[in-house]
Amino acid sequence: MSTYLKERKKKKMKFVSFQLKDGNVVGEVKEKGAQDQWGIVKKDKVIMLSGEGVPYSTLIDFIEGGEVALSYIKGLDMEALPSYSFEQVNIAAPLTVKKNVICVGKNYRDHALEMSNQDPNAIPKHPVLFTKPHTSLNHHQGTIPLYKNITSQVDYEGELAVVIGKRGKDIPKEEALNYIFGYSILNDVTARDLQKQHIQFFKGKSLDQHAPFGPYIVHRSHIEDPQNLSIKTFVSEELRQNGNTRDMIFTIAELIEVVSAGMTLEPGDVIATGTPSGVGSGFKPPKFLQSGDVVRIEIEGIGILENKVE
Ligand code: MG
Repeated sequence: MSTYLKERKKKKMKFVSFQLKDGNVVGEVKEKGAQDQWGIVKKDKVIMLSGEGVPYSTLIDFIEGGEVALSYIKGLDMEALPSYSFEQVNIAAPLTVKKNVICVGKNYRDHALEMSNQDPNAIPKHPVLFTKPHTSLNHHQGTIPLYKNITSQVDYEGELAVVIGKRGKDIPKEEALNYIFGYSILNDVTARDLQKQHIQFFKGKSLDQHAPFGPYIVHRSHIEDPQNLSIKTFVSEELRQNGNTRDMIFTIAELIEVVSAGMTLEPGDVIATGTPSGVGSGFKPPKFLQSGDVVRIEIEGIGILENKVE
C-alpha cells in the first residue's frame, strides 16, 4: 500500500450516532426521547465526541457547524476522549431528518426497465421524486417489520444516501458536490402492493422502520468519485443487486441541482439516490422479503448496512 493510501485510510472520518448499552442489557431499545450520542469510528472503536466540553451535542448539530465544526474536531486529542468497543454500543440511525428523506425513483436504467416489463418509455426524462418520513428511519441491525396485516410484498432497495452539509437553494450542478457533508447507505424498503394501490409512492414507502440508514456517514473528502462506487445487496447471502453508481441516470450533482431549484436544502437533509436492478419484485416469480431474511447492503468505501427481517 502506498504511503498516500495509508495516510488517507488513517484519517478516514466515519461519523456515527449511538447509544451506550446499559450494563448487561444487550440490544436494549433507547428510551423515548433519549438523545443519541455521536462520535467517530476509528478502527474497532467508537470515540465519543458528544461528551463534556464538545459544543456539538448531536451529529446534526455538528454537521450544521460546517467547516468550523470540522476543524474543531480535527484539533481534538482523540486518544484522550472516551472510547467504546462495538459490543458496548447500539448503533443508531446517523441522524433524524428535519424534512422527509428525499428519494429518487427509477434512477438506474436496468431498474426502471425491470419495474416496467422492459418498457423503454419507463426511463424517466426528469428525476422521479418522492419522500419517506422520519418515522420510517431505522438503524443498522434494526429489525424490518413485515406488516403482514396490510402488505404481502415488502421489498428491499439498496441505495447510496447523500447527506447535505450546507444550506443552499438553486445550487448549480457544477457546485453541487460542495454542498454534501458525506455519504451513507439507505435501504428504501417498499411495500409494493401499497405503492401501486395508492398511486403515489408515499404510503408504500413510509411504513415505520422501512428506511434502514447507516451505519456511518463517511465524510465526502474520503470519497474520490461518488459516481464510481460498487453497490451490492445480499438477501440471506444471495447476491440480488450488483450495480455501480456510475449507472445512475441522473448524477448526484444533477439531482441536487433539480431538488434545490426553488427549494432550500438544509444541513442534515438526506437524498437517497435510487436503486440498481435486482429488487425482489423484478424477479419472476418475485422474491419479496420473508421472515428471518437478512438484508445486507455493501457500498464501496462507505460500509455495510445489515438488517434482519422480523
Ligand atoms: Mg428507491
